[in-house]
Amino acid sequence: MIDVHVHLAALPTPANGCRLSPRMRKSLLAKAVALAQGLPWADPEAANRRYLENLSRELAASRRVSRAVLLALDGVYGADGRLDEPRTHFLISNDAVLEAARGSKAFLAGVSINPMRADALEEAERCADAGAVLVKFLPNAQGFDPAESRFKAFYRALARRNLALLSHVGFEFSLIGHDQSVGDPARLRPALEEGVTVIAAHGCSTGLFFFERHLRTMRELAARFPRLYVDTSALTLPSRAGMLWRLPAIQELRGRLLLGTDYPLPVFSYPCAFRPAAWLRAVRANNRFDRQAEVLSGLGLEPLADDAVARVLKLDGL
Ligand SMILES: [Zn+2]
Repeated sequence: MIDVHVHLAALPTPANGCRLSPRMRKSLLAKAVALAQGLPWADPEAANRRYLENLSRELAASRRVSRAVLLALDGVYGADGRLDEPRTHFLISNDAVLEAARGSKAFLAGVSINPMRADALEEAERCADAGAVLVKFLPNAQGFDPAESRFKAFYRALARRNLALLSHVGFEFSLIGHDQSVGDPARLRPALEEGVTVIAAHGCSTGLFFFERHLRTMRELAARFPRLYVDTSALTLPSRAGMLWRLPAIQELRGRLLLGTDYPLPVFSYPCAFRPAAWLRAVRANNRFDRQAEVLSGLGLEPLADDAVARVLKLDGL
């Protein structure tokens, strides 16, 4: 399978175009990732190499997942279409993921473009030319509403260049968030109407432990738009597992599930604990990719195989 939701993390270097604010540097998430991955803060180049080596090793150990879409993260932009540096706490540049994917059999480039940026269309063209397979955005942290009609030209450019759109859905706690209401999947309707293949992240879960407020919207959108897919990223986290348990009953999503882990976030086995054989396989998996696949199998969920994902992402040469 192909994991469509794997994050590149990188410390800023003079060459890589990435950013990390002092506030984000001090965050629990940044510290936890650095600790778990053994990243040397004082040596950004070495830390960035180590992160990719760790990821490559874990992916190579997987029996069920062979490739991963590596995701960039664009920043916050002002009304003038320019990067809002004080509000951009974390930025993983498109060049960093394009560089990591270049010549790699394991990695595909998932660039990130905030549609508010003045050069959004040019950047989409540039990234498509450079081999990007999808565009990721995260409205809550990137500070925009995907439903704004002025973004239609951007969506048309994505559709024309066969770039799928992977959008965060639900609340966002990992990064420094802004308006949480823009995580509503209903806001992705204009992109779908313009013919974009949309992958709603995290199975359209709300991320608030209890009530899955987006369930109805997801069913309506899936019934109306055959190009809507959902990924399984972060669904074993306690805040999102409620949706994981609901997904097997959702007929509209048959054949629309894409495997995603949200690496480097952890993947837990407990969601399939009531199926002891599947749970044991998940517990024994020595990598997050297989654990995620085993949990999904244990729940009767079958994400699309790599050739089907290649068709969804319109990859050539597969
Ligand atoms: Zn993610």
